[in-house]
This record gives sequence, structure tokens and C-alpha cells, in this order.
Amino acid sequence: MNKKTIKDIDVAGKKCLVRVDFNVPIVDGVITDLNRIEGAIPTIKYLSDKGAKVILCSHMGRPKGEFNMKYSLRPVAVKLAEMLGKPVTFATDVIGQDAQAKVAACKNGEIVLLENLRFHNEEEKNDKGFCEALSKFCEIYVNDAFGTAHRAHASTAGIVQYGFAKVAVAGFLIGRELDIMGGALENPKRPFVAILGGAKVSDKIGVINNLLEKVDTLIIGGAMAYTFFAAEGRKVGNSLCEPDKFGLAKELIEKAKAKGVKFLLPADNVCSDKFDANANTQIVHGEIPDGWQGLDIGPETCRLYAEAVKNAGTVIWNGPMGVFEMEKFAQGTKAVAKALAESGAITIIGGGDSAAAVTQLGYADKMTHISTGGGASLEFLEGIELPGVACLNDKE
Ligand code: AMP
Repeated sequence: MNKKTIKDIDVAGKKCLVRVDFNVPIVDGVITDLNRIEGAIPTIKYLSDKGAKVILCSHMGRPKGEFNMKYSLRPVAVKLAEMLGKPVTFATDVIGQDAQAKVAACKNGEIVLLENLRFHNEEEKNDKGFCEALSKFCEIYVNDAFGTAHRAHASTAGIVQYGFAKVAVAGFLIGRELDIMGGALENPKRPFVAILGGAKVSDKIGVINNLLEKVDTLIIGGAMAYTFFAAEGRKVGNSLCEPDKFGLAKELIEKAKAKGVKFLLPADNVCSDKFDANANTQIVHGEIPDGWQGLDIGPETCRLYAEAVKNAGTVIWNGPMGVFEMEKFAQGTKAVAKALAESGAITIIGGGDSAAAVTQLGYADKMTHISTGGGASLEFLEGIELPGVACLNDKE
């Protein structure tokens, strides 16, 4: 990574405004997934140990620009203090009197968490005045929120873009995300295999295009596969597919051929007579008959895909192989997760549904890297520059 990190600067005694990703699920006041808080801890600890005044800020959920206690970050402050084993002062507003007083009182090594940034519409609008107000808490800006690095909001990019924060560096989490994913894209251990699934080809055109330049094998699963099938004139029954993308699907298959990339589509599918957890199912090889829809990859495909992963050097995976929310159609996603866990390859899970599946199945510690950003990792894999990274100071 050619961006400066917190290790490249002196932070002692400085007010460090740290954009973290504390967008965690909270059910009845209880945080049900601590991953994102855990991900931010190395940066927070480092800054605090080095004697910085650590001012944390994040968004959570979609409070639509209003103070709404349902989206308060207070439970996160309590949990973070418990996880760090040191106090975390919570400010009940973002740029108001309470935040100003608590930041002013913050001593070296102490930690303050501001209230939810999205209680202000100005955050997502990247409002200049809001950036300026935030910058009062900021001698050094640190971005460690990979999950929102693809957004140009006030706290993720604007505060630097408008010139309010001159010293702007990456935290350890962003550093790790970029090093591992960037390393895989630029200098992969081969064979390099990408597995893409999910509902729509249209959401992943950019990623497929960019990965076709780099991988040895591209594996397709999920409903996306049926657009490729249908584009080649094969019957797909009632399967989800995007007829307006047939031309593009053909082009991508041609591009794979021209580049010598192995392009794998399912050999068999778990087909169902309706979109229902208790529907009748059958395994269908090849064309899918009328009245049936493909909702998961079949057992032979699971074996073929596992085989392709087995001897890979690097594997990147994004998107489920079927309707994994229903047990009957979760076998393909489970099989791919297991194959990755058992392979000796560098394994990178690109956030979102695939990250959730790997974690639920208990394979998380078997993966090299599980990205904390679904949208951000997709844009990164697409080769798009992330505004939250682009704005940071370059290494000299
Ligand atoms: P995405 O957000 O594009 O990664 O898509 C994830 C969604 O795709 C999940 O909710 C899956 O249930 C859905 N999905 C995957 N395979 C299929 C399929 N064969 N038919 C319908 N939906 C699917």
C-alpha cells in the first residue's frame, strides 16, 4: 500500500480523529456480532498506548439524519470499554456541546466515542461545514473504516478533501485489507481462482471484467449462472435470469476464452418447483425444464468446484452459490466454504453473504482473510479507487 499508516507518524499528545466501522447489529440493546469492533481494536490500542487522544467516530444503521436512540452508539461504547479493559467516554452528540466538552477534557491515551455520525444528514452529503466542525477534533485523521471506504462522506473522505485534515493516514484494519486484497490482485500465488455467486450478473459485471484480466479460473454460482446459461441458448426454466444482460454475458465468456481463463458454470443444479423452503426438488444436469428453477448448485458441481479450489494458490470468493438462506439450497455455499477451509491456498472472502456463511459454519479461522466490507471489497476487486483510501497521504 502506498499510503501512510499510523506507524509512519508521531501521534503522541495529538487529537486523532479515527473513523471506525462500528456499524454493528444490535437486537434489544445487545450487540449480536462483535467482528467490526474487534477489527478496530488494534488501531485503537496502538494509538492509546502511544499517548494519542483517541476520538472515535462511526455511523450505525440508517437513522436518516435524526437523533434516534434506536441507533445510538452508546451500547458500543460500553462493549468497547469492556473489550479494551479501559474506559471509553461516550459523547451524546456528534459535533455539539457534549462532544466538544468531552474532547476538550480528553487526556493523552484516553478514548472518546462520538454519537452516530448519521444523526446528521450532512455526513452522507459530505457537507463542508460539517467537515469543518468535525475537524475541530482532529489534528490527525485516521481512516480505519474499510466498510465505508467506498463512500465519499464527510467523515470518510470530505474532511481531508476539503483540506481540513492535512495529516491523514490509514489504520491497521484498512492497511491489512488493502495489503491482502491488493497483494492477491497484483501478485497472486497461482493458480489464482475467483468464485463469484449471488443474484445478478449486473451487480458484478465490473468485478468479472477486472478479474478476467488476472485469474486462471473463474467459477460462477448462484442465480448469476443462469444468465450465462440462457445467453448460450440453454433452457433455464423459471430460474432467475437477466435477459437484458445476455449480450454482455456472451462477451464475458468470449473474453475468458481469449484470455485463456477457465470459466466454470454449474454442471448440475438443485431445481425446485417453487421458491419455497419446502418445495419439491430434483437434481438436474444441463438444461432446466419448464416449471422448475435452479436454486443451488448440484452435488457434482460441488465436487468440481472443490477440485478447482484444492490445488489453487489464491482463492477469492464473493457471493453465495444458491439461496443459502433456505437449508435445502445452502449445500453449494457450504461445500464451497468447506473446500476453501480445507485448501492450502491463500483464501480471501469478500465480505457480505459469503463472509456470514463462512463465519456461521465455523470456518472463519481457517481463512486467510475475511473482508469487513462487502460493497467496499467488491469495488476494490473491480479496480475502482476507494475515496476513503485515495484521500489519505501518500508514502514519501
Ligand atoms: P448478491 O447480493 O448479489 O450477492 O446476492 C445474494 C442473494 O442471491 C442471496 O440472497 C441469495 O438467496 C440469492 N441467490 C443466490 N442464488 C440464487 C438462485 N439460484 N436463485 C435465486 N436467488 C439466488
